[in-house]
Order: sequence, then structure tokens, then C-alpha cells
Amino acid sequence: MKAVFLDRDGVINELVYYREAGVIDSPFTVAQFHLLPGVGQAIRRLNQADYKVVVVSNQPGIAKNHFTPDTLHRMDEKLKTALAEERAHLDAIYYCYHHPEGENPRYNIVCQCRKPEPGLLLQAGENFKLDFEKCYMVGDNLTDVQTGQRVGCKTILIGKTKCEMCHLMDEQGIKPDAIVSSLTAAVTNILNWEESHGDIHRFC
Ligand SMILES: [Zn+2]
Repeated sequence: MKAVFLDRDGVINELVYYREAGVIDSPFTVAQFHLLPGVGQAIRRLNQADYKVVVVSNQPGIAKNHFTPDTLHRMDEKLKTALAEERAHLDAIYYCYHHPEGENPRYNIVCQCRKPEPGLLLQAGENFKLDFEKCYMVGDNLTDVQTGQRVGCKTILIGKTKCEMCHLMDEQGIKPDAIVSSLTAAVTNILNWEESHGDIHRFC
């Protein structure tokens, strides 16, 4: 079985700018959760190509008491409804709630599921009997690339700040198989690659 693992924030939905804190972070409320353009259609193409589509996402906002698991589940419902309207679906969603410096004692731990640890992907691999060599990890952070590489997936980085990212990649020796501008472009790369069995290494 093959799968495409998707990071959530910045890949599926918009990141949120918190003016007072001056930081960009995940949505903390359901109202802040907005799908990025083209996501439903991109996921539908993966559904049609027989990929399991699995969200793997760090949500340290739970450990940090920014929001609760219940809020996260309501975001899931909003996401699933929006995808259903585009005849697309997710096969599973795996979250890490943890952060070593969190304030919630229940989730204030060093875990094996916070990316770049591969725990979420390994769990999905077991549940869906995945062949990681046929899988892709798509994310907007270098930790997504690292996580995918740890289990032997191909990796696609969604990035707009190319120069900064390239500098960091050189520094840390992390190279994705491709860098693209959106999930739509990532899916086109995946499906073309499968067709040609060629090289998806394309920096645009
Ligand atoms: Zn975790």
C-alpha cells in the first residue's frame, strides 16, 4: 500500500499570524481554520490514484494550552466537510499533542511522535501496511523532510522562502526530492513521477 503523508498547517490550511506575539503559528480556533486554495482538488487526485492520504501533524498547541483536543477535532470536522464538498477525503489524521516545554503536564513530555521523530509515520505504516518506498511526505518544514527521510519516503518541500530554506538545507545537509509552491504542485509532481518513474528532483 502507498500513501502520501501531508503536514497540516501551511500545507492544507493557512497559517495564522498572531499580531500581539508577532509569530506565525497554527490556528488556535475553528474560526481561524481556513483551507488553502486547490487543496480539495489536489487530495481528490491522490484519492483517485489509490494513495492513502494521511495527515501527520505536530500540534504542540495542546501541550502549550493554546487549544484543546476537542477544538482540534472540530477543526478536523470542518476539514472533512470542506473536502467532502470537493469529493475528496482523508484516510487518517495522526497528531502529536506533545511538547517538552509545554504547560499541560499530561502532554509535557519528550515523545517519539513529534516530527522529526518518525512515530506518526510508523503508526500509519503499521495500520495501513505501507511500503514506505512508494510513499511521499509533503510538508513546509525541514523537519517534514527529515521525518520522511527517516522512514525512507520521497520528500517534497512546499516553500516560498527559497533562499532562506536553501541556506538552511545546506547548513543542515537536508535535501528534499523536490521543492514546490503548493500542494497542487506537489501532487502533480507525485503523479508525474509515478507515471515516468523518473527523477522528481526539480527546484522551481
Ligand atoms: Zn508526540
